[in-house]
Amino acid sequence: MQQTIKNSIDYTGTGLHTANRVQLRFCPGLPNSGVVFSRTDMPNSPCIPARVEYVDNTHRGVSLKNDLCEVKTVEHVLAAINGLRIDNLIIEVSAPELPVGDGSAQIFVELLKKAEIVCQDGCESRLPIKILSPVWTSTKHGQKGHIVVLPSEVYQISFVLDLENSFVGSQFASFSISPEIFEQEIAPARTFGFFSEVEQLKKQGLAMGGSLENAVVIGESDFLNDLRFKNELVRHKILDLIGDLSLIGRPILGHVLAIKSGHDLNLNLARKIAEMADR
Ligand SMILES: [Zn+2]
Repeated sequence: MQQTIKNSIDYTGTGLHTANRVQLRFCPGLPNSGVVFSRTDMPNSPCIPARVEYVDNTHRGVSLKNDLCEVKTVEHVLAAINGLRIDNLIIEVSAPELPVGDGSAQIFVELLKKAEIVCQDGCESRLPIKILSPVWTSTKHGQKGHIVVLPSEVYQISFVLDLENSFVGSQFASFSISPEIFEQEIAPARTFGFFSEVEQLKKQGLAMGGSLENAVVIGESDFLNDLRFKNELVRHKILDLIGDLSLIGRPILGHVLAIKSGHDLNLNLARKIAEMADR
């Protein structure tokens, strides 16, 4: 069965990069309509589907754009929707950038659960894309990042994060992604950044809404805030990956192994899987 939410629900927050104040509203979606953003601050509230073909920018977050409008930093909201196995949803936003919450997907999980996740009677379930042979991609030059999806009976993600030039070093985590695992083990993991980069980011007009309230900050020899999990950073990378791969628009049955991957590589894999499924 496809799933949506029973009731609409509202939240007001701030964008991580733009620091815009934004009203967010999750509304039930019709069967087979997928996840769609709507910009309520623009005339006629233009829409943009959460699909990989609309990815516009992946620098420090994922932006979607079509002829009508743009939405920025969509990955944490999309991770919550996909992690809870919601198929159809309208996400109304009153500004270009989605709210950051506490830097994780927790607030969005809470909102969606409060709105009550329901099965949509009388419509066929979404067919998962079953991975039958490996699909992979790597960063060009320097052989740094790699991502591959292998055949598996469940949706599993394993991730190696390596911040080799910092005290953090490498972190590893692996989960099979059920709504329960997502909610408990992944959704609370916050985004992160280096203290040494903050000034540079702000000069570029990024992270304008960033603070210790919505990001784990990595200092010279320690974190500047308390961690929620010992390996919180790699768990957040898995959260981002779930959001990125949700842009395929269908569930995946496969084991995704990512080594030092980021939005660019994640989305390259999403495109490859989507193309393969269309054939
Ligand atoms: Zn993130």
